Amino acid sequence: MSFFKPNSPSSFTMKILNYINGQLTPPVSGQYLPNFEPSTGKEYGKVPDSDVVDLELAISAAEKALDGWKITSAEDKFKVLNRIAELIDQKNEELAQAESRDQGKNIKQARAEITRAAQNFRFFASATMHFASEAHPMEDGTLNYTLRQPIGIVGCISPWNLPLYLFSWKIAPALAAGNCVIAKPSEVTPVTAFLLSWICIEAGLPSGVLNILHGTGPKTGKALVEHPKVKAISFTGSTRAGAEIAAFAAPRFKKLSLELGGKNPTVVFADCDFDLAVATSVRGAFTNQGEICLCGSRVYVEKSIYERFKDAYVKRAESLAVGIPSDETKNLGAIVSKLHFDKILNCIEFAKTEGGKVILGGNALVLTGENSGGWFIEPTIIEGLPAQCQTNKEEIFGPVVTIQPFETETEALHLANDCGYGLSATVFTTDLSKAHRFAAELQSGIVWINCWLLRDLRTPFGGVKNSGIGREGGWDAMKFFTEPKNVCVKI
Ligand code: NAD
Repeated sequence: MSFFKPNSPSSFTMKILNYINGQLTPPVSGQYLPNFEPSTGKEYGKVPDSDVVDLELAISAAEKALDGWKITSAEDKFKVLNRIAELIDQKNEELAQAESRDQGKNIKQARAEITRAAQNFRFFASATMHFASEAHPMEDGTLNYTLRQPIGIVGCISPWNLPLYLFSWKIAPALAAGNCVIAKPSEVTPVTAFLLSWICIEAGLPSGVLNILHGTGPKTGKALVEHPKVKAISFTGSTRAGAEIAAFAAPRFKKLSLELGGKNPTVVFADCDFDLAVATSVRGAFTNQGEICLCGSRVYVEKSIYERFKDAYVKRAESLAVGIPSDETKNLGAIVSKLHFDKILNCIEFAKTEGGKVILGGNALVLTGENSGGWFIEPTIIEGLPAQCQTNKEEIFGPVVTIQPFETETEALHLANDCGYGLSATVFTTDLSKAHRFAAELQSGIVWINCWLLRDLRTPFGGVKNSGIGREGGWDAMKFFTEPKNVCVKI
């Protein structure tokens, strides 16, 4: 099945549909939202503006499917989830082209993300076969064993930056653990979630086990969070929306996993492998236009190498080419939306009012022809800001980094931790003791030493402080999506 026209003209309009009870379904209200192409700034598709009526259809489909899916054998669950992985792999190029066009990311980045979406399904397909629970025998022979049962109907809500990659990172473990899922992708990047619906149909996923509802956060997302039959919410997105969801869910005791914003430090010690630190920290700042929650956007460099490092860093960032997402020779593509484009440019202007000096970029880039209305921003580096300013504290989520010197390890640690977020941190040093010591003291859920974005799907993924609660990945995800029940048997 070929479901996407990669080279379709910009006049091609894709009408997206919900996936409810195994069927591609228009919203009952008949209302749609516009979907824009970041590299042209033009509308090129329609997204269902789903509401509670569509949600009720999805809930009743999930309810009907739940009893069957809960008792589906691990091997049968494995087969269908693995089939989804295979189909994603087979359609990698079509999906990557769709993702690149819809999100604005460069096609090479999109291909890597689609590969990872298949890996997510394959990884959790195999988890169904290996997931086990604990037993706690007591001295007198009494046996405690823990059942890990599916929660029931769960909600998965994902953002626009790594659309299918993050969508699959939630859906796959939720299904593997035996739940029925109502999933809502971002309304800003809905296309690959729609294409996943086709793949699920082709793979033979039983009807109602996964339902994909499109729509906005305040309407569709909020309704999903508030539905009494949705027992758990796995959310990835902004800290603002995460706080709203937590405020609603907490008094109702819904299980919550919140993967939120980041403002991640990159700490470069004088004893680092210099070339590796420059190359990796530039990649760690500007990949996907800086629209990755794990991007390092505050770079701290030990004073003795500050000027040399800064020069090399600026030179390397300057060599990054910004251009249309389908051009493989480019590094950065377009910013995802006009709203986000304006926000990033405003943040750059605001940084100047805080005393920041823009030492690279700082401007929108205007391309020609069909792309003259696209949303492109130059890689931007800002120097000279105080640690306490808004630019160093608040997430920008674009191709913008600040760079500043530090003198001692204690000062570097203070600067890195002096922020409301705590998602990831990256450290460059060849001193093994310092690396371990520093990693232990960093207030973040993930620490990379001499590398960035190296991911093993078994490891816990998530943040501390305003970056969220809970962990995804490996057994953490399988545990989140199951309810443990202790059974105590007196022998
Ligand atoms: P967002 O919070 O605006 O939206 C995320 C998703 O939540 C979307 O599907 C949206 O429709 C929905 N939503 C919004 N408000 C909602 C509400 N009140 N109730 C229910 N659903 C709601 O975030 P975004 O702009 O799409 O994504 C960017 C943010 O995501 C950044 O802050 C980034 O750091 C964060 N992010 C975090 C991680 C992580 O793993 N920690 C990964 C990627 C992105």
